[in-house]
Amino acid sequence: MAIRTSCCMRLLVVLCLATMGTLDTASSGYAGREAESGESSKEPAKVKRNKPMSKSDADKKGTSDQTEIRDRCEMETDALLKPCLNKTGDELEECLLPYDKAVNACVNQGATPKDQKSLTYYRIPYADGTNVKVGRDFNTHNPFGRIDMHGKGGGTHRIVAAADGTIRYIQDSRTKNQWPERLFRNTRSCLNNYVWIEHANGEWSKYSHMEFGSTTIKAKLKEGQWVAEGTYLGDEGKVGCASRDHLHFQIYEIGTKPEIDSNHGDFDYHVNAEGERVRLGYLDHRNPQFLDLAGNIFTLKDGETYVAGGLPKCRKDTECPSGHFCNAGVDLDKNRCMPLKADNDTCDIAGGGHQCKSGYCKFGRCYTPHSVGWGSTCYTDEACAEGKCSDVGGLKGVCVCKADADCSSEGKYCDRGADLNLNQCKDKKADNASCDLVGGGHQCKSGFCKFSRCYTPNSVEPGGDCYSDDACKDGKCSAVDGAKGTCVCKSDSDCGAGKYCDAGLDAKINACRPKLDKGEKCGKLGSVGNDHKCKSGECSGVPKYECK
Ligand SMILES: [Zn+2]
Repeated sequence: MAIRTSCCMRLLVVLCLATMGTLDTASSGYAGREAESGESSKEPAKVKRNKPMSKSDADKKGTSDQTEIRDRCEMETDALLKPCLNKTGDELEECLLPYDKAVNACVNQGATPKDQKSLTYYRIPYADGTNVKVGRDFNTHNPFGRIDMHGKGGGTHRIVAAADGTIRYIQDSRTKNQWPERLFRNTRSCLNNYVWIEHANGEWSKYSHMEFGSTTIKAKLKEGQWVAEGTYLGDEGKVGCASRDHLHFQIYEIGTKPEIDSNHGDFDYHVNAEGERVRLGYLDHRNPQFLDLAGNIFTLKDGETYVAGGLPKCRKDTECPSGHFCNAGVDLDKNRCMPLKADNDTCDIAGGGHQCKSGYCKFGRCYTPHSVGWGSTCYTDEACAEGKCSDVGGLKGVCVCKADADCSSEGKYCDRGADLNLNQCKDKKADNASCDLVGGGHQCKSGFCKFSRCYTPNSVEPGGDCYSDDACKDGKCSAVDGAKGTCVCKSDSDCGAGKYCDAGLDAKINACRPKLDKGEKCGKLGSVGNDHKCKSGECSGVPKYECK
C-alpha cells in the first residue's frame, strides 16, 4: 500500500488522533472498528431532557460508551502506532503487534480472551495447497476473537468456505482500501467487503476484505445459497479497513435474528437462547478448530504458516481420530471425519447410531436410552427415563406420561393435566394429601380420593384427622365438605352396632365406644342422659352411676 509523504501525514495523524481518535489499526487490525465497537459510524445518542431513555436510546448510549473507551485506549497507545505508518506487509504487521496488544489490554481492562473452541472443525479457508501465514490469531487480534491470515507467494489467493453452510450476507461492491487514507477523512466507518456463512452447528463464519466483485461476479454466489466446504468465495484483498492484503476470518456463535452493520459487516445484536436481544461481543466468538488430513486437531497461532487443505476424507469410522465418525454419504468425495454428536443432535435416520456419542439414533436424533428427566427435551420415548415423549414421530417434545401405566412402578401415578409438557410420574400420595377433586383416586396410595383428599376408608381412629366421613373408622368427620376435621360421633347412630357415641361439648373428642356391661361406670355426679351407654339401656343415678 502506498503511504503519503510522511511529514504531512504525521502532522495529520497527530491532529486526527488528538481530535477524533478514529484510528483503528492493525494488520487488519483496523478490525478495531469491525466488531465490539462496530457501531462507530453511528451518531452518539442524543437523549432529550425530561424524557425517559428509550430502549434504543439506551442501546446507543452503551455503544457510544464502548466507542469512547476504544477511542481513549487508541489515543493513549498511539505512540506505538506512529512508527508503523511508513511500513508495509509483514513488517507493518509485526510493527503493529505491540500497539494491538496495548489497545486490547486497555479496552478489555487487562482481561484476556476466553479461548472457547468451535463446536466442529473448519478447514483453512484458502484453496488447497495455499501457504497461509497467520498474522493475528484469536488471542492477538485487535479486537480479540478474530483471525487475520494471508496467502504467501505471489498471485491471486483464492478464499474458500471453511465448512458447509448457507451464505447469509454478501458485500463485494466496494473497491476502496481505507488504510491509511481513512485517517484523513472525517468518517468512522469501515466499508468492508464481506461474506457470512451460517453453519448447521449454529456457528457463523465471516470472510472480509475480498476483492471487488470476486464473490458475486467471479464466484457467482448469491445470498441464501448453500455451499460445500472448499467452495470458492472470492479473492483475498484489502478492501475496507485492511492494512494489507489478507483475509479477516471469524467464527461467531449466534442465536437468532443477528443484526448486521452493513458498513463493516459485523453483527451488533442477536437474540440469545433465553429470547433476549443482546449485544454480541468477543465472548461470543469461537476459536476455530482445524483438522488436517493426518487427523491432527489444531487452532491457528500467530506467526505460523499452514498449508490449506480440505478436511480429512474417510471411508469408515476406523479411519477417523477417536471421538469422530466418518460421515460417509453417497458422494464419497464429501466423506469427512466429524466429531461424534451429542444427544438431540441430528443423525442419519437409517444407520445413524455410529454418528452419536451414545451410539443410538432414532427419528434422526441422537439419544441416550432412559436418560432424560421430566420436562426435558426428547425426540423418542426411548430417551425418557420414565414415561413417554410428548410428541411422536421425531418431533421435538419433552418427557411426560400419559397414563399411570407409563410410570415405572406401582407406587407412581401419572400427574397429567391440560399442559402435556408438565405431565410427569409422581409418587402416589398418602392419606390426607391433596388429590384431584374429580378422578383423583389414582393419585392416592389407597386408591380413594374425596373432597380432594386421599383417604383409606374406615381407617381413622376417633380423634384422628379426617376430611370426609368415609375416612373414619366409626362415626363422622367433625368438619364437612373437605375442611379438616377429626373423626367423631354426634349420636349413637353414627357408631356401629354395640357402640354408643360419647358426645361431649367438645365435638373433636367425641368418640364411639363399646356399650357398657352391667356394673360398669356410666356417669358421674350431676351427669344426665347416661342410659344409652349401657347394653341394658339403663344407668343408675346418684350415687353410683352404674349400668344395670
Ligand atoms: Zn482482522
